[in-house]
Amino acid sequence: KAPEKMLTKELCNKRKPQPAVFIPVDRLPEIQAARLKLPVLGEEQVIMEAVRENMCVVLCGETGSGKTTQIPQFLYEAGYASGDGIIGITEPRRVAAVSMSQRVAMEMNMSTRVVSYQIRYEGNVTSDTKIKFMTDGVLLKEIQKDFLLQKYRVIIIDEAHERSVYTDILIGLLSRIVPLRRPMKLLIMSATLRVEDFTENKKLFPRPLPVIKVDARQFPVTVHFNRRTPTDDYVGEAFRKICKIHRMLPPGGILVFLTGQAEVHSMCRRLRRAFPFRSNRGSLIYLNLNHFCIYKLNISPFGDEDRQAGIGDEEDGSDLDLELGDDPGDEGLEKCDPMLPLYVLPLYSLLAPEQQGKVFRPPPAGTRLCVVATNVAETSLTIPGIKYVVDCGRVKKRFYDRVTGVSSFRVTWTSQASANQRAGRAGRTEPGHCYRLYSSAVFSDFQEFSEAEITRRPVDDLVLQMKDLNIEKVVNFPFPTPPSMEALVAAEHLLVSLGALEEPPRDMERVRLSCPITPLGRAMAAFPVAPRYAKMLAMGKQQGCLPYVITLVAAMTVREIFEETDRPAASEEENAKMAQRRARLGQMRRLWAGQGASLLLGDLMVMLGAVGACEYAGCTPKFCQENGLRYKAMLEIRQLRGQLTTAVNAVDPEARLYLDAKMAPPTESQVLCLQQIVLAGLGDHLARRVQVEELLDPKWHNGYKTPLLDSPVFIHPNSVLFKTLPDYVVYQEVLETSKMYMRGVSAVQEEWIPQILPRYCHFGPPLEDPPPRFCPDSGRVKCHCKSTFFRVGWPLPAVER
Ligand code: ADP
Ligand code: MG
Repeated sequence: KAPEKMLTKELCNKRKPQPAVFIPVDRLPEIQAARLKLPVLGEEQVIMEAVRENMCVVLCGETGSGKTTQIPQFLYEAGYASGDGIIGITEPRRVAAVSMSQRVAMEMNMSTRVVSYQIRYEGNVTSDTKIKFMTDGVLLKEIQKDFLLQKYRVIIIDEAHERSVYTDILIGLLSRIVPLRRPMKLLIMSATLRVEDFTENKKLFPRPLPVIKVDARQFPVTVHFNRRTPTDDYVGEAFRKICKIHRMLPPGGILVFLTGQAEVHSMCRRLRRAFPFRSNRGSLIYLNLNHFCIYKLNISPFGDEDRQAGIGDEEDGSDLDLELGDDPGDEGLEKCDPMLPLYVLPLYSLLAPEQQGKVFRPPPAGTRLCVVATNVAETSLTIPGIKYVVDCGRVKKRFYDRVTGVSSFRVTWTSQASANQRAGRAGRTEPGHCYRLYSSAVFSDFQEFSEAEITRRPVDDLVLQMKDLNIEKVVNFPFPTPPSMEALVAAEHLLVSLGALEEPPRDMERVRLSCPITPLGRAMAAFPVAPRYAKMLAMGKQQGCLPYVITLVAAMTVREIFEETDRPAASEEENAKMAQRRARLGQMRRLWAGQGASLLLGDLMVMLGAVGACEYAGCTPKFCQENGLRYKAMLEIRQLRGQLTTAVNAVDPEARLYLDAKMAPPTESQVLCLQQIVLAGLGDHLARRVQVEELLDPKWHNGYKTPLLDSPVFIHPNSVLFKTLPDYVVYQEVLETSKMYMRGVSAVQEEWIPQILPRYCHFGPPLEDPPPRFCPDSGRVKCHCKSTFFRVGWPLPAVER
């Protein structure tokens, strides 16, 4: 062997930690007994050897095998938290960070002062903390403060298969930090899904990482597909399926997968109404004493015994069907008399921790557990006692529009890997059943795996966070899956124009992707919102505008705050009613927009007015209904305003801001200031009204030209600026319906543009007087303004005169 190799080996040996001390943990006997049943316990020796021998180790194991709860305990016992080092574990979801820290504290019989958690604005970490659960975003922020993560001896990245952007970036960063911090250890934990992106990625780790696989006992799960073509009412279908399972199948918990918090709540309400129970001094009383069932039910035998072949693809031939001419609907079923009370619990990310904990406790005697969950129950949390899984097959995902860059949540089909994970939840303790509310044909059209989040979204916020970590050349960053070059360039471009990054020397394309961060960029990086909005917050401390900017940013972040009035009507009558309603809501909008200067803040002024008026009226569902506001959105805005106020105070303690829900309307000068702040944030969403003399095509009539689109965009008839048609506007997003309509429109004055957005202007020599508005040769727009002559730098479509 080459001597230098030997030398490094010797050095490594020297650097190896001493044979670990054993730190005893005093567990309760019943906990110890339960632990011994977990698959990872059998592999403790192998895992700890691998950790001792290697800097980075990957651990793969089926969900529920004990990774999250046991590995931190192994490391603790092996002395990795003795002295001043601590063990850090990251989770992509808040709910997992909180509930896992509590569980581990309980298992180790230790206080939450020692086994603690930290999530965005909340945590119970103390100076005694030895095991710290946190969200991946929290650790990323800590790296910003201390790049070497000095206080950690071991970092565990949990749920790496979820491929959340922060987890991906953490793995990239840690691949560089850990070698600098020998003998620090990195453990990447994942469900048994594709891990090659980490292990076989030379850019990330020069040598393939050792992978330890933990085999878990998994009982067979019979998968039942729907025969019918799937409908959009999957919540209703799930409800009926749960009713059938509960009425006809042997005891065993039910786990239902839906897509979001609102659905989870509505389902819980429906189920509780259908199967009520009340606990009275520990005994259960059936509320529904009406002992007759209005439907004749035909229970077809399951024939399970010969079909427990594991997760298969067969069509469900033995689905339980109500033998009825027509669908009974929920009302019918609600009148049925239940056999057993159903103990219904919701589970989703933002649920209060006390509520979350309930799913792990045994249900009251004589009841059947039914957990209505979002994706959190897919791999993050393992709920005991589940025998039946009802899978709607959908997932709520954020989608991004390439053109406008604006995101929205949409419900789509999940991936095959996720659907199989969901099914697997039914076979933890005994053979189970999974009811898929879609056919096997639909399933075979699913993507095999969900894509890494980073490939599906714009990365301007990530690039900003990385620049804040002084990673200037983001292209060279070892991403497990790199975002597209196009996305990186777009992000850098946007950040430069927002002033968050230093401007590269002109015509030096090569250095484009390595612009350093500016002080403004650092301030922006501290706000938990997209860079466009962060810029507005960073600029908000003028003329007392901050509370308004916070409200605007909150209202723009929470989507669809106004009731939809443009739906096609079903009948003449409904049409007339809707027209009436539209007229009334239009009136309200104009009232909120006000007159004069405030009207020019346009739709954003309407948002401010709506939030202010709603809070003034006590934010009641009735007020929202009467005035065409979405009640849920209003509550979300209130919550977000609180969060942003906290964030602003954290960045600038001198701001000493407090949240005044019912703020007074802004003064005229504040409105002008707000318009400029909005222009600064939404600069790349600037649109110029096409002037009469350049009207080349009738389709441009009343149209606006934007730098991003070739076709004209328009102000929506619902906008308060529809009749005003200002020369320049900024918009929140473009939505294509019958035309390309701008939404969230606010007017801006021409002379602000060269001052606030110099990057968007080409300054040229003074033009002849009067300046022509359109110059066919250069294809550029020339504008005249008070102090400077400038040309707004985007070409018009080449059209023949
Ligand atoms: P993994 O991370 O491999 O998916 P976990 O460590 O989360 O597995 O879970 C191991 C076991 O501990 C599971 O059987 C789960 O049901 C149980 N468990 C986890 N948290 C709790 C809790 N809060 N209460 C009761 N049991 C729990
Ligand atoms: Mg886990």
